[in-house]
Amino acid sequence: MIETKNLGKTYTSFDIETVALQNINLSIEKGEFVGIMGPSGCGKSTLLNLMGLLDVPSSGQLFFMGEEVTNASAKKRALFRRQHIGFVFQSFNLIEELTLYENIELPLIYQRVPPYERKKQVELVMERLQIAHKRKYFPKQVSGGQQQRVAVARAIVTRPKVILADEPTGNLDSARGQEVMETLVELNELGTTIIMVTHSSNAVEYSNRTIHLFDGQVVTENLSNVSR
Ligand code: ADP
Ligand code: ADP
Repeated sequence: MIETKNLGKTYTSFDIETVALQNINLSIEKGEFVGIMGPSGCGKSTLLNLMGLLDVPSSGQLFFMGEEVTNASAKKRALFRRQHIGFVFQSFNLIEELTLYENIELPLIYQRVPPYERKKQVELVMERLQIAHKRKYFPKQVSGGQQQRVAVARAIVTRPKVILADEPTGNLDSARGQEVMETLVELNELGTTIIMVTHSSNAVEYSNRTIHLFDGQVVTENLSNVSR
């Protein structure tokens, strides 16, 4: 699904170069649930941004669904993202002027899904994440936990092949966090590939494989032996 070959990313600002990632060699297969762990600043978000085609690498190669996308144009990357990837960020990136319902519906409008089908899909994910009763509210009118669940709903409503999640339970209490994780596990069991950045060893127990980063490099890869 996603493959990297000697992937690297160096940021340059004010003539200062920061090597955020170097020599990353990973192969993530369809249907995997991968956790990415490591201390703050080790390159987790950078890796997620590269795999999500939000940013471009400085060195190495990146393949997405068998196609090389290392130097793909912004337009092509946007198309790939829209068609195949769902994002759940720590900051929810919800649109304040739209209701919760409209926020979740937006990616389906971009994909030109017809209205009847859109309604069906939005209602389904809102029920699943228990936010249907807040459909007409605006993001600022609901709790952080509810906003987080709207962000998850928006990421999964298009049934993407890959979900990239950055601390998806970071702002949730443990019960709500567990609900979000269980939703991700269900989607994974339906074949969705999930790549999740997390600090929480609880959250990582849901994954099949853990990649540990340190100073921009992969230090260990563990296959989880949790049965779930
Ligand atoms: P993590 O997500 O593990 O905390 P990041 O991927 O955010 O790590 O950051 C990796 C390194 O790259 C850090 O040293 C960080 O300061 C640096 N970095 C991240 N984004 C930028 C940026 N836009 N410009 C300059 N340096 C950056
Ligand atoms: P949850 O755990 O479902 O996120 P909370 O316990 O945080 O719910 O909130 C309980 C109720 O209070 C919810 O109906 C929520 O909409 C409301 N609420 C919580 N925080 C806020 C807020 N900052 N602004 C408006 N309503 C809020």
